[in-house]
Amino acid sequence: MGLKADHKPHAVCIPFPAQGHINPMLQIAKILHFKGFHITFVNTEFIHKRLKLNSIANSSINGFSNFRFETIPDGIQPASDEDGGAEAPHQDMPSLFHSILNNFSTPFCDLIHKLNDSSCSGVPPVTCIVADGGLTFTLDVARRFGIPIGIFWAASACATLAYTQYHQLIERDESYLTNGYLETSIDWIPGLKNIRLKDLPPFFRTTDPSDPFLNWVLTEVEKASTASALILNTFDSLEQDALQALCAMYPHLYTIGPFQLLVDQIDDDDELKLMGSSLWKEHSECLAWLDSKQPNSVLFVNFGSTATMTLDELTELAWGLANSKKQFLWVIRADLVKGGSEILPPEFAEEIMDRGFLTSWCPQEQVLKHPSVGGFLSHMGWNSSLESVCGGVPLICWPFIADQMTNSRYACTEWGVGLELEKVERNEVEKLVKELFEGEKGKEMKKKVMEWKRKAEEATVSGGSSCKNLDKLLEILVGNND
Ligand code: UDP
Repeated sequence: MGLKADHKPHAVCIPFPAQGHINPMLQIAKILHFKGFHITFVNTEFIHKRLKLNSIANSSINGFSNFRFETIPDGIQPASDEDGGAEAPHQDMPSLFHSILNNFSTPFCDLIHKLNDSSCSGVPPVTCIVADGGLTFTLDVARRFGIPIGIFWAASACATLAYTQYHQLIERDESYLTNGYLETSIDWIPGLKNIRLKDLPPFFRTTDPSDPFLNWVLTEVEKASTASALILNTFDSLEQDALQALCAMYPHLYTIGPFQLLVDQIDDDDELKLMGSSLWKEHSECLAWLDSKQPNSVLFVNFGSTATMTLDELTELAWGLANSKKQFLWVIRADLVKGGSEILPPEFAEEIMDRGFLTSWCPQEQVLKHPSVGGFLSHMGWNSSLESVCGGVPLICWPFIADQMTNSRYACTEWGVGLELEKVERNEVEKLVKELFEGEKGKEMKKKVMEWKRKAEEATVSGGSSCKNLDKLLEILVGNND
């Protein structure tokens, strides 16, 4: 990497304020820091308070050389210390989308002005921005300051490609979207294979062009094409066809994943490497419980940070797990059940006492690397899906929203690492858990996921595709792409 000036390049990294976006953005920031960048990591005040409470020890905040946190208000949460507690409720998403479009740009520009004023900031001038794909107002900010910008899109390539297809769907046949025939096969999207209507993002299923969420996503997807670079957390061999199709729309596309494997390469004595980004308090006791179990004997069950289910679904899942007679580690987030705290039947607790471990939030990456974990029942958020591949853990897929449908389909049909949970019924859950641990399909999936794990490792070592792409991305971010 050739630097233009005699000071360090300075990247301002700003994630979308949600768990599944903050984690990979912090990984990008760690990678850039390791590569010699000064980093300013920008959170909303609301998010930063939760990070301080749950995962960034006060002493380490701004205690790292060349890595500083800054905050901007999100325009909806009061800035007092009383809000944003450890178990704070979710942010109101429609208000947040509205606020991002209207309130984020000014404080973000002010922050960059402040950082560039060497007389008071004591940091090198800002040389680039790395922003989440949900914050494309930053494109105008980058233009104003005349610096390059990398937009990080926090989804797989296949799901990103699906996001670009809404207008095509409407043009082909509006009734597709609302006629209820979710099994309809969609075979005309170049780069996407074996897709049914139900594998596309569920927010597509509207013909109301003013739907605010749909509009917001479509605008952001389109605007991302004007970034200096579009960054994806995936690797070339996993998503070749989808990537090829995406490259036609996003010529400056850089696949540099799995990020977690690049972070693993950072020196162990670099304390920044270990800094976490959980918005909930992590309960690590489950790791000691896993230590006491046989290799590949435990099913891990977790649904990420936003998925919610009905009490009926929770109950069916609980009995499916119990009846499978397998050992399991189940993360039940405080707000996992719609409209209230979960109530598991007392007989369930008795039944699973010797083989189930329940907790409310865990160090998931470590859990998925633990040798005792032999399967993952997941909502198929992209981070969880990739973490499972990196851990060599086959999946049972129960997608809920957004990109999770496409990820699930690909895991089951293209990558051969997942079983689809078609009905949330106890017998179905029991059947799939047994299939994963005892069946032929389970064995094949384990083999497949180990192959993908190896390919992910190959992509991220020196000379691998993600490593090479990272080098090219760094050139762009320091302004040496001409
Ligand atoms: N996560 C975690 N502990 C938990 C649940 C989730 O550390 O108990 C992390 C998980 O490792 C992943 C992120 O939270 O990095 C969730 O992102 P994902 O894209 O899988 O799902 P989302 O939360 O965006 O739906």
